[in-house]
Amino acid sequence: MNRFLLTSAFIVAAVSAVQAAQTAQAPQQPAGWPQLPPKAAVSNIKLVEPHLHVDRAGKGAPRIALTFDACMGKTDPRILSTLVEQRIPATIFVTARWLRTNPDSLAVFLAHPDLFELENHGQNHIPAVDVPTKVYGIAAAGSPQAVAQEVKGGADAMLTAGIPQPRWFRGATAKYSPTAIMQIRSMGYRIAGYSVNGDSGSLLPAKMVEKQYASAKDGDVIISHINQPTHAAGEGVAASILALKAKGVQFVRLQDIPEKGDDGTTN
Ligand SMILES: [Zn+2]
Repeated sequence: MNRFLLTSAFIVAAVSAVQAAQTAQAPQQPAGWPQLPPKAAVSNIKLVEPHLHVDRAGKGAPRIALTFDACMGKTDPRILSTLVEQRIPATIFVTARWLRTNPDSLAVFLAHPDLFELENHGQNHIPAVDVPTKVYGIAAAGSPQAVAQEVKGGADAMLTAGIPQPRWFRGATAKYSPTAIMQIRSMGYRIAGYSVNGDSGSLLPAKMVEKQYASAKDGDVIISHINQPTHAAGEGVAASILALKAKGVQFVRLQDIPEKGDDGTTN
């Protein structure tokens, strides 16, 4: 056998081995077997829930940012009246849904621009996640196009309602896919995480809310809800605001103070 034939034989053997391996990896389904439905797209993307802090005061009175989400539904007068009467600055995240049904509360916010910074909580309160999934049972936006619509739809409704252009976005559930964070950042927003969960979606008993607020330290950003007037949590929020004020806390809004968020949400 000459050198050429030897080489050819080797190639044929090698190709056969590769074909055999491929066949072993992907066995053909015998004819007549039932066709399985195509597998549904499974999202195993890891969602992030970013933190946010404001710059610490350091010496003197601790500095804390109160943030409230107005997701949908109504307005909690216990919280709103406490903020207005005590002259407590706060950042309020509103959705287009909430704006439609709360013109009177919006008028109160707009009448006190020295107290209230209004920011974007989205159009329809849909989690800003760009792959199909559910967050706390809520269907996520599911695509980059739907994330963009949620953000832009929220801002458009704010501008129509006479609110200045928002600079911050906080999505429903405060959870995001990392790529959605990059997308929203590219739309000109910083993304508002938090560092203290004040009311766990307005589901905590009042006393637990008070414990959460009492744990806040210099530089913390507290998240709570201002749209659940029938929940016990709101009573705890109102009492907690008074307690922080009595401690001499300096309340700041996100627009007034440098901040630092993780997961690429700020700078
Ligand atoms: Zn919300």
